[in-house]
Amino acid sequence: MNTVPNILWLEEIRKEDIISVGGKGASLGEMSSIGLPVPKAFVVTAQAFRRFLVETGLEQKVYKSLDRLDVENNDALEKAAETAKGLVLKAKVSAAIRDEVKKAYRRMASDDLVVAVRSSATAEDLPDASFAGQQETYLNIRGEAALLTAVQKCWASLYGARAIYYRAKQGFDDHTVNIAVVVQQLVNSEKAGVMFTSHPITGEPLTIIEGSWGLGESVVSGSVSPDKYEFDQRTEKVVNRLISTKKIEIIADGEHGTKTVEVATGRQDSQVLSDAEVAKLAMYGKIAENHYGVPQDVEWGIVGDAFYILQSRPITTIGTKMSEQGASAEKSGAKESHKILVQGQGASPGIASGKVSIIRDVKDTGGVKEGDILVTRMTNPDMVPAMKKVAAIVTDEGGMTCHAAIVSRELGTPAVVGTKNATSLLKDGQLVTIDGERGLVYEGVIDQPLQKQQAVSQQVGIGPAPIITATSVKVNVSIPEAAARAAATGADGVGLLRIEHLILGLNKTPGWFITNHREEEFVRELHDGIKIVLDAFPGKPVWVRTLDAPTDEFRNMMGGENEPHEHNPMLGWRGIRRDLQSPDQFRLQVEAFKQLWKEGYDNVGVMFPMVSHPDQFVQAKEMMRGWGVDVETVTLGIMIEIPSSAILIEDFLTCGIKFASFGTNDLIQYTLAIDRNNENVADMYQPKHPAVLHLIHNAIQTCRKYGVECSICGQAGSDPKMVEWLVEHGISSVSANIDAIAKIRETVARTEKHIILEAARNRNAE
Ligand code: PEP
Ligand code: MG
Repeated sequence: MNTVPNILWLEEIRKEDIISVGGKGASLGEMSSIGLPVPKAFVVTAQAFRRFLVETGLEQKVYKSLDRLDVENNDALEKAAETAKGLVLKAKVSAAIRDEVKKAYRRMASDDLVVAVRSSATAEDLPDASFAGQQETYLNIRGEAALLTAVQKCWASLYGARAIYYRAKQGFDDHTVNIAVVVQQLVNSEKAGVMFTSHPITGEPLTIIEGSWGLGESVVSGSVSPDKYEFDQRTEKVVNRLISTKKIEIIADGEHGTKTVEVATGRQDSQVLSDAEVAKLAMYGKIAENHYGVPQDVEWGIVGDAFYILQSRPITTIGTKMSEQGASAEKSGAKESHKILVQGQGASPGIASGKVSIIRDVKDTGGVKEGDILVTRMTNPDMVPAMKKVAAIVTDEGGMTCHAAIVSRELGTPAVVGTKNATSLLKDGQLVTIDGERGLVYEGVIDQPLQKQQAVSQQVGIGPAPIITATSVKVNVSIPEAAARAAATGADGVGLLRIEHLILGLNKTPGWFITNHREEEFVRELHDGIKIVLDAFPGKPVWVRTLDAPTDEFRNMMGGENEPHEHNPMLGWRGIRRDLQSPDQFRLQVEAFKQLWKEGYDNVGVMFPMVSHPDQFVQAKEMMRGWGVDVETVTLGIMIEIPSSAILIEDFLTCGIKFASFGTNDLIQYTLAIDRNNENVADMYQPKHPAVLHLIHNAIQTCRKYGVECSICGQAGSDPKMVEWLVEHGISSVSANIDAIAKIRETVARTEKHIILEAARNRNAE
């Protein structure tokens, strides 16, 4: 029998009580236990909500309304949400629960104590997901009747459309997600805001605080552009202040919970926090971070001299996904010479171009198309389906910690927030480019990064004389649009052309082309895309990698519905293992290569990804032979991404591979059992782990013995330190990201000279 009471007081709660009190409640309990200034509170437990569902006979009815719901169908989603919410709102709460809530309220203070009533979903605030803003909060609630209504409304908000959608997308089961309600003394903040106890993108020990006048809701919801302060924990100093114009504030309102009012002109531009206040808040943030062991996203408020910590939860995105590092390096740095239309804060990194779609009302999001740039005053959780579709997000208001920023980062969508006037300056349909790192919106479509311009000047002789290296320095290319600027680096060839990006860009899976008898079109697209890269590198080797997209990356494309659902796509049906089992798909790629070879592009090498056994190489080669490829003359090689291929490298060499290239992004994850996309274990993702270096060292030496080119095309090949080590250990070529080429070439040259110098010195010393 369940013995958890309907009500728990803050003092009784610890983080282990998350199932009963939700992330918010557990965190408040913990914080109060370590002495942070948390306002008085009690929690209506998740068990009280369950009892309510059972006692009223609602449980099955609610679940039924959600079963088999297609959350992408807006109408169906809205309808199901209305039904479920209506059921919860109309049902009568038992006298026992009502009495206990009323009693707790009276115990907290007098009958007219003003409280905030906050939902606290029990899957909320877990480290791997943020339900920020998905359930309701009611502020300025006064009196028993209003409190009971607010509690019931919080329960109903568990079934709001945006909450259902968000949970479905994050893989939470509606049947098991629960809701607790935190009833807390309302702090009528004179100033308030949010704080990231470490930098949300880089993870540096920089506390970022955003604050504005009135209640913190204006900052959290993004309805105001707040002041921003950066406090360096190493020097214990405020290192940055950005004072914004704070036009509105949200204050308590007797009848409607809260109201938005204009800030008096004199206060609009004045600084919200003194340095001493920033330091004190940062100190509280540090206490929370130290206690929880991970950086926190904290809500705070100040009334007079009293500081309050209102909630704290882990920041959901710290660190860059390894798979994105190369991409963002390629993507970052749009041309300064292009006209900047608007600027704000870079809230989610990445570059994207597209057509502006201005949304003035959430009802208009139906018109937002895939790849558009969503421009709006501020996003709210109802916009999540639209936010997922778009290429980038631009808002007039909000800061680094507002809803738009948090969700954009989680979705990996570039975002610029707090531009003040994007909705009035940008026009519907206008083509723009967003730099989500630097917070800029440029006119038109830009595809040449700034770093490239510098590289180009070197090439045409404005810079120093070209550096010649004995170790080839090649470049990685993922999209044909980048071919010209990749070539302008003067790279010695392409060490990795990822063709899956050509396919993902078509928005149709290879299976779709096959099922719809559009094979020729598929071959043509591949051929044309690869040809653009080949034409940019005449006479230089270009290693084209056969398809390597995990099944989940195909899912949202046409035909994606036929992709298998895999628990672990990284370890699943991808790379050569899929091609060998899907000869139709493999053959189409080979057709494209054949055409290119026939057209005289004999610089094409074909590289097989995710090879784990020499038999796979032999099988691939034999299939190609069967399709008319002269496999003994063309250049076929493998990626070393799985420890088994590094261990068995000699067997691969005796099977006739013409080259091997370390795919360290995968080699590291498979050697160390560290998911390269998982920020929780990102600090354990060590390219220079001795086991990884051991595998690489052995493979290099074996390739050298056979006189076969050994290269690297993973992200580690763009790291000068790693490249120094690789050159010292005898690698024959490295392939780096476009923007890293100049630096890598310099590193290679310096290391080579060092080796020669050392050898000469050693000879002289003998
Ligand atoms: C790698 O694994 O290092 C690699 C280059 O392949 P991808 O990043 O495409 O998996
Ligand atoms: Mg790989």
